[in-house]
Amino acid sequence: MADKFVSLKNLKFLLYDVFDSQALCRHPLYEEHGRETFDLVLDTALKLGQDLLRPSLAGMDREPPRFEDGRVLVHPSVREMMREFGQGGWIAAQAPFELEGQQLPITIGAACRFIFAAANYSASVYPMLTWGAAHLIASFGTEELIRTYVPRMFSGQWTGTMALTEPQAGSSLADITSLAEPAEAGHYLIRGQKIFISNGDHDGADNVVHLLLARIKGAPAGVKGISLFVVPKLRPEGGALVSNDVAVAGIYHKLGYRGAPITQLSLGENNDCRGWLVGQANRGLGHMFQMMNESRLEIGAGAAAIASAAYYASLDYARQRPQGRRPGAKDPTQPQVNIIEHSDIKRMLLFQRAVVEGSLGLVLQCALYADLARVADGEEAQKYALLLDLLTPVAKSYPSEMGILACSQGLQILGGYGYCDEFPLEQFYRDARIHPIHEGTTGIQGLDLLGRKVVMKDGAAFKLFLAEAGRTVEAAGQWPELAPLAGELAGALGKLEEITGVLIGRAGQAEAFLADSTLYLELFGLVGVAWQWLKQAAASRAALAGDPPPGEANFHRGKIQTCRYFFGYELPKMEGLLKRLASPEALTVDMALDWFED
Ligand SMILES: Cc1cc2nc3c(=O)[nH]c(=O)nc-3n(C[C@H](O)[C@H](O)[C@H](O)COP(=O)(O)OP(=O)(O)OC[C@H]3O[C@@H](n4cnc5c(N)ncnc54)[C@H](O)[C@@H]3O)c2cc1C
Repeated sequence: MADKFVSLKNLKFLLYDVFDSQALCRHPLYEEHGRETFDLVLDTALKLGQDLLRPSLAGMDREPPRFEDGRVLVHPSVREMMREFGQGGWIAAQAPFELEGQQLPITIGAACRFIFAAANYSASVYPMLTWGAAHLIASFGTEELIRTYVPRMFSGQWTGTMALTEPQAGSSLADITSLAEPAEAGHYLIRGQKIFISNGDHDGADNVVHLLLARIKGAPAGVKGISLFVVPKLRPEGGALVSNDVAVAGIYHKLGYRGAPITQLSLGENNDCRGWLVGQANRGLGHMFQMMNESRLEIGAGAAAIASAAYYASLDYARQRPQGRRPGAKDPTQPQVNIIEHSDIKRMLLFQRAVVEGSLGLVLQCALYADLARVADGEEAQKYALLLDLLTPVAKSYPSEMGILACSQGLQILGGYGYCDEFPLEQFYRDARIHPIHEGTTGIQGLDLLGRKVVMKDGAAFKLFLAEAGRTVEAAGQWPELAPLAGELAGALGKLEEITGVLIGRAGQAEAFLADSTLYLELFGLVGVAWQWLKQAAASRAALAGDPPPGEANFHRGKIQTCRYFFGYELPKMEGLLKRLASPEALTVDMALDWFED
């Protein structure tokens, strides 16, 4: 089987033709770069994905982490990967030059992470978490913390985690109870338990650095009493690394994403677990949101990436597997056709491509807003920050939920072989399942979108979104071929606006208002991805006008056809959601607990 897992052609089309990301280099922050650097970075990332990450995809799944004598042992390839990622400057790719980073745009970083995640999702999480944790220290830590931790994390010697979840505080971080008691030497003594911590301990690096949420003794209850700490597994002391009283209580055995250990940690059993405050006391959750928001986009990208690997595996299979004949051709003496000729197989392939490339568009759009928020000033910067804020739950959830379905369709294309581990589809399907769960479940993203993001600043972000999508409608509408689709998107945006108004009108009854927020998120995802597809179709239509060579023309024709698929097959699903959301009946609220059958 061919081992394609990602299309560099598509990535470059999105980055340059759709998002014009090379224009970022006009800003002083990115002026050292240009399209040539970006191309080189992307080409090298693909090579790293092919040569370093992909070969251990199955191995990391079949030989998952082990917990032996209090230590977590991971696949041997992890250490080599971290070294390569560190030495190649990949962990620090987005960090500023003064921290020895490459100062690459967030958009290019996101494209690289998409490549790595498509090659081997579990492997990609080690450098990704390390970057997020080091970035937190660099943003909010003291000079000393930055000096002590960041270079070692950027070099891949030490890896990072985000340590939030506790047994009683999963979705509800307000209920965190891990305790931090100030000590005279300036550090804090930490006590508590953390569960489900990705890469919380392993032998693939020399140390693990937890960015951990805890409550300083006497802090107010709720989110306003949470602080952020650096808590290393081994702490530097007198020129050596000594144990910091962070014990691993166990690891979890998981459905997929098995190459990364998920750990249960016990902190301060011997009253000697030291943590160092990062940023301001009691403002820790706000600081942590930097990493959480980055992670949410990375998860959206990761979900689209696994679906991308599944798409190319099933496409390759469909091109080679002879089975059956076309409708009406009943002569058994005639050769069978390859299954890619069956319309139902084409439908499943179109669904996969629509999910992969539409999701990737949404994620890169958010990454671009993050870049623009950094390089712009004043109101302009605020505008992009608001758009990013609004779209983050959508860019996390649509790829996560639809990525599973896309992998499932990929598996379906392989028939019985899809269900067997000789082919990678079953692993992709299992690996993809984590995404709607970690970093805020889909339910929590729905609450965030409807309960907070859409209404914040009197709906300012939502209005900006409508205006941005409206510009795409206008631009695409210039092409007669795309004008009907542009009209459909305009209609969809109008309906989204209308139902949003209806729902906000119910905001006084909190429970009924938010009861179907997951459905609202799904609706928003459909409209948001339709917007992205129309953008891509317009860029392809413009490219076709330049009369490109046949290979290029096929790519662009395929784009426009997939856009038409999305508008013809996926977008109409909004009608059912709209009907449900419009209903004033609070069916789930009214369901009495005693009515559930035991
Ligand atoms: C493989 C894996 C890796 C992880 N990695 C990390 C990590 O690195 N760091 C870390 O800190 N955590 C990590 N987690 C934890 C993860 O973020 C949590 O599992 C997740 O946030 C959900 O919390 P929970 O499991 O306690 O479920 P719960 O919070 O108990 O949720 C259970 C269900 O109830 C729903 N629900 C909860 N509250 C509400 C509400 N108010 N309204 C409506 N529905 C609600 C949820 O949507 C969900 O469907 C990881 C988890 C897994 C499985």
